[in-house]
Amino acid sequence: MSKNTDTAPSRLPVAVIGSGPVGLAAAAHLLERGLNPVIFEAGSSPAAAVSAWGHVRLFSPWQYDVDAAARRLLAGTGWQEPDAQALPTGNELVEQYLRPLAAVPALRAALRLNSEVLAVTREGLDKTRTGGRESTPFLLRVRDASGSVTDHRVRAVIDASGTWNTPNPLGQAGLPAAGEAEAYAAGVITAPLPDVAGRERDRFAGRHVLVVGAGHSAANTLLALGELAELEPATRISWAIRSSSPAGVYGGGDLDGLPARGVLGSRLRALVEAGRIELHTSFRITGFKTSDSLTIVGSTPAGEVQLNVDLLVPATGFRPNLDMLREVRLDLDPAVEAPRQLGPLIDPEFHSCGTVEPHGARLLSHPEKDFYIVGMKSYGRAPTFLMATGYEQVRSIAAALAGDREAAERVELVLPETGVCSMDLGGSCCDAPAAEEEAEASCCAAPEPAFLGIPTGLAHGRSAREES
Ligand SMILES: Cc1cc2nc3c(=O)[nH]c(=O)nc-3n(C[C@H](O)[C@H](O)[C@H](O)COP(=O)(O)OP(=O)(O)OC[C@H]3O[C@@H](n4cnc5c(N)ncnc54)[C@H](O)[C@@H]3O)c2cc1C
Repeated sequence: MSKNTDTAPSRLPVAVIGSGPVGLAAAAHLLERGLNPVIFEAGSSPAAAVSAWGHVRLFSPWQYDVDAAARRLLAGTGWQEPDAQALPTGNELVEQYLRPLAAVPALRAALRLNSEVLAVTREGLDKTRTGGRESTPFLLRVRDASGSVTDHRVRAVIDASGTWNTPNPLGQAGLPAAGEAEAYAAGVITAPLPDVAGRERDRFAGRHVLVVGAGHSAANTLLALGELAELEPATRISWAIRSSSPAGVYGGGDLDGLPARGVLGSRLRALVEAGRIELHTSFRITGFKTSDSLTIVGSTPAGEVQLNVDLLVPATGFRPNLDMLREVRLDLDPAVEAPRQLGPLIDPEFHSCGTVEPHGARLLSHPEKDFYIVGMKSYGRAPTFLMATGYEQVRSIAAALAGDREAAERVELVLPETGVCSMDLGGSCCDAPAAEEEAEASCCAAPEPAFLGIPTGLAHGRSAREES
């Protein structure tokens, strides 16, 4: 293992883990502040996680997808900002914004692709050692594409590594079910949000596919499978959810405040009611048996049920990878695994619309000085993160690291007084019973996004909804 030891501590770079929209924005803000970022990205291209769901259309228009410091960096390159009102797909977000941003010379020089951060610690100090901790450089252990491992010394760490690589297990109670690892290894459980009607169509056409989960990604995958089944009638679709009713996924139908969302919910309901999607409610997965096909064993109020399918698409949400932070002194909300002060604001059990205020360095700080978790990962297991919130997080953190406390404390993100949930939708988005397995961002507290997709926000939290 090699180690870079050649730099004096005060001149060390600030490490940014991940080159998603928030990681790149963090680097842009650091550069503006005269700080020196080094960005470690596990993927072979910038924003690898967004590319993985690139076929999905965002529900936030461009005006909320571009960070202010990134825009300033791009301004000098002849970059054409996309139409503020248009809704990009993930691929368009990468091609029309994140890739050009990562190609700006100052960022390109800072970006290390194929560089997976394995661990973060303080040089020479494990988690139990306090003396001199705050003035000791961080040490990042990084593995490159060839498998070689290097330790990097940095003065601060901004962890923007998202949650895409750590989906929740399918088994009940937060644990993998018996046989789950084997089913993954056999390739009968896919990645979340596969491109069923496009790139991966051949894999799904004419097969029996089970979608597990009751949120935004489950709904999108089910509708795409419905389209595929129109063209490939042998395709069979099943859907398993833990709750006793799919009503929260259907949304407000014709009464929905946003017609596009209402149409999607209505389409999903119609597919279920027409028998095109076979729905299994109150279904908790207890085991998998893998042979030529996949058998899913579920516990239901009527007793044990076994489903036989060709493929399973997981849509059960994501959780942060905290293993790599084992040697860092963190202060996390015990339920949500977000920074402690942020947790109660976003906890899906209790979160209500309008309670997520823009926040920055102070709220995101940990006992470990100069260490921050930002972006999707900062929301821990909560599904409601929005890029615009992340951009404000990293603006404030860059100011704090540069010693500008006043700018770090200032709130520059302007959210409407009432979010889309409480005003634009007459409360219907967040008042709907929630999708408990939901993984992605919600409409809650969004700066007036045009919404296209299934709502995931929770007004009164899971505690207020029927569970059986
Ligand atoms: C399908 C979907 C739709 C969404 N739609 C919207 C929307 O419309 N509006 C909105 O505001 N938000 C939306 N979100 C939520 C959120 O804004 C996005 O997920 C966004 O990509 C989060 O940005 P990020 O930079 O925090 O993390 P990511 O985009 O996930 O980037 C993290 C990066 O870190 C890298 N990485 C991971 N682990 C390591 C490691 N150990 N070492 C080095 N690199 C690592 C990954 O490869 C990745 O490139 C959506 C999310 C999903 C999944």
